[in-house]
Amino acid sequence: MDNCIFCKIAAKQIPSTMVYEDDEFVAFKDINPAAPVHILLIPRRHIATLSDCTSEDAALLGKMLALAPKIAQEQGCAVTFDANGQPQGGYKTLINSGPDGGQEVYHLHMHIIGGPHPWRRG
Ligand code: AMP
Ligand code: ZN
Repeated sequence: MDNCIFCKIAAKQIPSTMVYEDDEFVAFKDINPAAPVHILLIPRRHIATLSDCTSEDAALLGKMLALAPKIAQEQGCAVTFDANGQPQGGYKTLINSGPDGGQEVYHLHMHIIGGPHPWRRG
C-alpha cells in the first residue's frame, strides 16, 4: 500500500528499531513509547483495521496474538510466577480500531506495552 508508514517500515524503506521479523509479521519499537517496553507488531500484509479482518484472517490473527508473549519475553517483560506462586512482570496487548478507538495509523497493529511501573501513560 502506497503512503502507509507501517508498510514502509515493514519493507525497510523507512527506519525503525526492529525487534522481530518473519515471513508474515514485523515488530518494532514504538517511536513514542508509553512504557519501558512498547512494541508494535504488524502483519506485512496491509490490513487497515481489525474491522477489515474476516474469518479468513483468523489464522493470521491467532499467530499475531501468539507472537505477543514471545516478543514480550524477548523484551524482558514475560509473566512469571515466583516461588510463592505470585505473578511477576507482564504487559498489555492492545489493538486500537478506528477514530473512536484511538487508532492513528491505519495499518493493523498490536501494541505490546510492558516493563516496570510507573509508565508514562496507559
Ligand atoms: P495507534 O494510535 O494505535 O494507531 O498507534 C500508532 C502508534 O504508532 C503510536 O503509538 C505512535 O507512537 C506509533 N508510531 C507512529 N509512527 C511511528 C514510526 N515511524 N515508528 C514507530 N512508531 C510509530
Ligand atoms: Zn500498510
